[in-house]
Amino acid sequence: MEITGGCACGQVRYSSPGPVKFALRCACRSCQRDSGGGHGTHAALPLEGFEIEGGTASWTRSGRSGLSVTKVFCPACGCPLWGLPERAPATVMVAAGSLDDPSKVAPGRVVYRGEAPPWDLLPPEEERGHAEA
Ligand SMILES: [Zn+2]
Ligand SMILES: [Zn+2]
Repeated sequence: MEITGGCACGQVRYSSPGPVKFALRCACRSCQRDSGGGHGTHAALPLEGFEIEGGTASWTRSGRSGLSVTKVFCPACGCPLWGLPERAPATVMVAAGSLDDPSKVAPGRVVYRGEAPPWDLLPPEEERGHAEA
């Protein structure tokens, strides 16, 4: 099933043959800034077959692992679109809100929960404890 998405202004569109590998919420401080909210919600898609239309902008920051993450966004409207994690080079981490149909993904675990601001709404903690990001 093809998965499609894009930014708010329509300059950037993407598509993927799928499948969605997994989806998660990340409450790390960087994802708070990237998303403008209490956490980022990301859907992992295979890099293979991921196609882009329209000009993007990007910047690269270092992730918690010490490896880099390149964040891609629309230069016209500023919407976050996807991240390219150096630690998972075959994966595109799409911003779940940029999907044409965000209900196609089911974010499970929360990573860096302890960094979430007290006002953010997150699902209850799983009993097996903290997940590693
Ligand atoms: Zn745009
Ligand atoms: Zn994060």
